[in-house]
Amino acid sequence: MINIALIAHDGKKPEMVSFVLRNKHLLSRMRIYATGTTGVHIEKEGFNVVRLLSGPKGGDAQIAALVATGDVDVVIFFRDPLDKHPHEPDVQMLMRLCDVHNIALATNPKTAQHILHGLEFVIANND
Ligand code: PGA
Repeated sequence: MINIALIAHDGKKPEMVSFVLRNKHLLSRMRIYATGTTGVHIEKEGFNVVRLLSGPKGGDAQIAALVATGDVDVVIFFRDPLDKHPHEPDVQMLMRLCDVHNIALATNPKTAQHILHGLEFVIANND
């Protein structure tokens, strides 16, 4: 089972909803972790989600911890580069730990789509 973490800053939540709907078939076969508010949006579209704290309250840090312990395989984090975030240190920590542990990280929809295409291949060959 692939474990995927989904996070979107507020300005990017509509793009995250489009992304999960576009990839519903594949994402339904993965365990989805999400930060609090992102998770609510994804659940509304009919997905099962392990919902963590809201990003500014520590949700990004929780996902970073899951990355560090090997419990997340892929992180999709639609960051909003045009806005300021009080939890920027947590965002940096999460991205750093993805690099430390060689975990696939996408910060925009196009990259995320490429990663999912790759995972589709992995899942198809493991069935
Ligand atoms: P949220 O957190 O899903 O609770 O909005 C995302 C973030 O800002 O990191």
